[in-house]
Amino acid sequence: MQKQGLTLGSYRGIRIGLDYSWFIMFVLVVFILANYFFPQNIEGLSVGASWLLSVIAALLFFFSILMHEFAHAIAAQKRNVDISEIILFIFGGLAKMKKEPERARDEFVIAGAGPLCSFILGVMFLLAAFLLESMVSTGVYSVLWYIGYLNILLVIFNMVPGFPLDGGRMLRAVIWHYSGNLRKSTRIVSNLGQIFAFFLMFTGVLVLFGGSVIVGVVWIFVGMFLLQSAKSGYYMVAMREGLSGIPVKKIMTTNPSTVHPDISLRNLVNEYFFKNRFSCFPVMKRDEFVGLVEINQIKAVDRAKWEFTRVSDVMTPREALRTVEPDTDAYDVLMQMIDAGSGRLPVLDKGELIGIISRKDIMQFVEFRETLGT
Ligand SMILES: [Zn+2]
Repeated sequence: MQKQGLTLGSYRGIRIGLDYSWFIMFVLVVFILANYFFPQNIEGLSVGASWLLSVIAALLFFFSILMHEFAHAIAAQKRNVDISEIILFIFGGLAKMKKEPERARDEFVIAGAGPLCSFILGVMFLLAAFLLESMVSTGVYSVLWYIGYLNILLVIFNMVPGFPLDGGRMLRAVIWHYSGNLRKSTRIVSNLGQIFAFFLMFTGVLVLFGGSVIVGVVWIFVGMFLLQSAKSGYYMVAMREGLSGIPVKKIMTTNPSTVHPDISLRNLVNEYFFKNRFSCFPVMKRDEFVGLVEINQIKAVDRAKWEFTRVSDVMTPREALRTVEPDTDAYDVLMQMIDAGSGRLPVLDKGELIGIISRKDIMQFVEFRETLGT
């Protein structure tokens, strides 16, 4: 798997990654705190002190988000659900599961652990602010109070019962537990998540025209992100159900047209791509599978050189290809494709090419099954 962003470290086998987009949010938070929040709340604060407090507050805030994700991750590990990594990115954090939990009870506990952690953190910070008020400077007091308040906001936001938020996952677990139908439960919370996403975007627009441009834009983007996640959450479950127990050999394209490594790109384009309209061809040399050539690899070569460039010069050689076996579960293959960022994979049986599986094949299969109700 490709590593996303910077690696901060790892704990219990879980990589902690910092996506580059996180820096945008960090700078934005510090900027808003230093220019608006602290100067408005503390009288006579110097510019330097305001920026210092803002950086500390922002770091504590992101530390709180990291703890929230760790709570999810540790709860998951306790229930034998593998977490590959925790990523901090522009919209917060994400504890990436290698596979979704298979029992409603597990999902409920894993989803609930995050908000519970944020709630405890929030109460601790607020309590510290309350108890230490007379002992610490106004600056420290404001930071403690603010981080406590943000953690409580985080709980409220995350408990909104729409997928992919924690509250949505918890609600899904409850409906799933009582109905036994994961797909139906996911559809309900995915719809709720989409409604909430639209509400956020709409509110963002109002806030934007109300004059708070940055906050408005952030809300709109968060709404767009949630909308996308809510949709894909349902889609993944539909895929998982539609593909469970289906080996890839049932879906793949068998006997694909193949090309020889020595033919020119011009020949390849005219005789193969235009005639068959596939976007990739396996390359075979005397019955041996040696690589895969894709349309974008041709596009990368200057048209004038097509005559003199051979397929073997541009193809992805077999050693560099990920391949799958005919009995692999189609859902696992789809996951592998998403992970590798590839649209199609060769299917090999004991080293011999027997077919090609593409994302399109998989999706069409699920679509047909849905249409025919089988
Ligand atoms: Zn969470």
